[in-house]
Amino acid sequence: MKKADIRGKWALVTGASRGIGRQVCMGLAQYGCNLVLHSRDAANTKSLAAELTAKGVQVRQVAGELSDQNQVDAMLTNVLSAGTGIDILYNNAAVMTTFRNDWQNVPAVLDKTELTQLDKEVFKNYAAQTCSGYCAGCANICDAAVAGVSNISDVMRSLMYHNSYGDNQLARQTFAEIPADVRARLLTADYRFAEQRCPQRMPIARLVREAVEKLARQT
Ligand code: SF4
Repeated sequence: MKKADIRGKWALVTGASRGIGRQVCMGLAQYGCNLVLHSRDAANTKSLAAELTAKGVQVRQVAGELSDQNQVDAMLTNVLSAGTGIDILYNNAAVMTTFRNDWQNVPAVLDKTELTQLDKEVFKNYAAQTCSGYCAGCANICDAAVAGVSNISDVMRSLMYHNSYGDNQLARQTFAEIPADVRARLLTADYRFAEQRCPQRMPIARLVREAVEKLARQT
């Protein structure tokens, strides 16, 4: 299989500050790829940006909370306003599900340096398709679908902080802020109706269990 030449291309890596996201950035940089580093707070990618810049890589930093559609839109506008285009998207930051298909998290290489309007639409659609791994500001849907549990999006957000941002402190804090009586019902609630209505097709019951296992004992 012919390998793509990514020298001089621009890659947007979400959740770039640590873990897999950071390693992906280092790997792409090795092949001469320029990088747009995403994190929840630009301060989180400051040291990585300095390290990559010292290697001669062109770097930009962007910030945004991926569970907030407005922040995602603003971030994409910021990214595209640079005029360099985005050739590769590595959508690392998300509440990863086991149901993702490989193509959903594989870098999408486009042999272009400028994005046309059509490219932007494709990019937007791609983002919409790949966002099945995180919530999209529609808490009113799931919260209304589960009796006695009205904080599902908070559970998802705390798990995203833990799994994708690696920010255990914020994850624990967010989880702990869920009222104690709601937390006590998390493992016994019926999430089937919520899963049916969830536009992102989130495996809510499994993710809630995962959040409880990872975060409840630490609060
Ligand atoms: S409906 Fe689904 S995507 Fe929306 S907040 Fe609830 S779990 Fe997340």
